[in-house]
Amino acid sequence: MCNAAKEVAETLNRDECGVSVDGTWQRRGHTSLNGCVAVLSIDTGKVLDLEVMSSYCPTCRKLQKMHKNAEYVALKADHICQCNYEGSSAKMESVGAHRIFSRSVKSRQLKYTSYYGDGDSKGFLSVQNIYGINSVCKLECIGHIQKRVGSRLRKLK
Ligand SMILES: [Zn+2]
Repeated sequence: MCNAAKEVAETLNRDECGVSVDGTWQRRGHTSLNGCVAVLSIDTGKVLDLEVMSSYCPTCRKLQKMHKNAEYVALKADHICQCNYEGSSAKMESVGAHRIFSRSVKSRQLKYTSYYGDGDSKGFLSVQNIYGINSVCKLECIGHIQKRVGSRLRKLK
């Protein structure tokens, strides 16, 4: 993914680019969620960064079953927890997008200044001011662009 970021910077000859943000998740039981948010370059169609999120941790599950809440909270601190997200699936995409955008300069040397997302703008609102006030703009027509990127990728193969 770092190479994909370098490729974008070299292709565009600048450190700002447009990305499409895509989230997907699955539900395990009633409360556990696994999800993943991906940021793709609009110019190359390649994945630039990925945030895997889970609200499921087998150790926590076991501790919760065996202990009362106060004890569980104390014991919870002692293990390497596999949970890195608590909340609803609806919020997952914006939390993931925010994490990816906040590390983009440090980890990818890129600013994702154009956000291509679908109708729901919660993800966009979470990153709109990330590099400064209104530093990210939202662009529509995601279906159109995905189709174009998709057909370009198929041609490359
Ligand atoms: Zn845990």
